Amino acid sequence: MVSLPYDEAGVNGESLTSFLRNRNKVGTSGREYLIRMLQVAERSKVKGYEVAEELVGTGQRRRGGKIVDCGSYLHFRHYVGLDDCRLLRANFCREYKLCVLCGARRGGRLVSSYLERMSEVLGSRANLRLWNLTLTVRDGPDLVERFSVLENAFGVLLDRSRDYRKKGRGASAFNVVHGGVRSFEVKRGKGSGVWHPHVHALLLVDGELDRERLLREWALLVGQDEGSTYAAHTNRGHGFKFCGPVGLRPRRGEVDASVIGAFLECFKYCVKFGDMPAMDIVSAWRVLRFRRLVQSWGVLWGVEVPDIADEALEGDYEWMDLFFRWCRGEYRLFEVDSSGTSESA
Ligand SMILES: [Zn+2]
Repeated sequence: MVSLPYDEAGVNGESLTSFLRNRNKVGTSGREYLIRMLQVAERSKVKGYEVAEELVGTGQRRRGGKIVDCGSYLHFRHYVGLDDCRLLRANFCREYKLCVLCGARRGGRLVSSYLERMSEVLGSRANLRLWNLTLTVRDGPDLVERFSVLENAFGVLLDRSRDYRKKGRGASAFNVVHGGVRSFEVKRGKGSGVWHPHVHALLLVDGELDRERLLREWALLVGQDEGSTYAAHTNRGHGFKFCGPVGLRPRRGEVDASVIGAFLECFKYCVKFGDMPAMDIVSAWRVLRFRRLVQSWGVLWGVEVPDIADEALEGDYEWMDLFFRWCRGEYRLFEVDSSGTSESA
């Protein structure tokens, strides 16, 4: 039995503010994590109602119900000595393409899984460098059509790169790509107001990716002629964003900020929930629901992405469990269990 500096009296329905004021023993990083998660969940609740309403209006009543319910209870575990806080359980809806909370959780898991694998690969293959690339197609009102053009064009680049690896033939700017991961994202174009699907890719490249060659190849694949593609490039939003190699080679336990930025950009969301009205989120979901938005290949193939809930730590650590419930428009703490060590769990 361990003694912990938390009393369990009077926590029923306590607000988060009051909890943090009265029990300021939760250290900085644990507290930051807790607050960040609760903020995301709170945003998710608000947006969830709008998305659910839209879904119900189009005959998706059950799905709407799941989204409204998502995150209405959250179970955190705070490891006191380590000041490590984890979201162990929640009633997640797991609708990553519709739900802010589940989308954010999944994005975070993708970032950490791929970062880890990428560091391993870069550590063992000295010839490879990490590149960050975004490819777009011209905005358009028909999302199905625009998305298909994007999806197919990127597929051809991958086929060419695979053919070259296997058979040693074929001319493509992607011949130097030994593997990578790509993630599709859909939003409304800033200037155009119509759909703007694009693909973020993190590539492991042997040598240099030939920018000019890739632009020409991509323009042909998406059916945009070179002249207008280059013109559009300077015109923002209709061409390419070519980010080039990112950061330094990540060493063990040390990752450059630009690398993290590239990973976040790649995986964070498949749709920008904050910027899009519920109607757009549901429209995008209809097009994307059966499509695989994140895919890896080559030396990055087969990365396993863990579940969106955090794992409990194994070992003998002191912990305190915090249970939050969504109640009348805010999260309230309704139970604190500070009786635990991992051994007794
Ligand atoms: Zn959810």
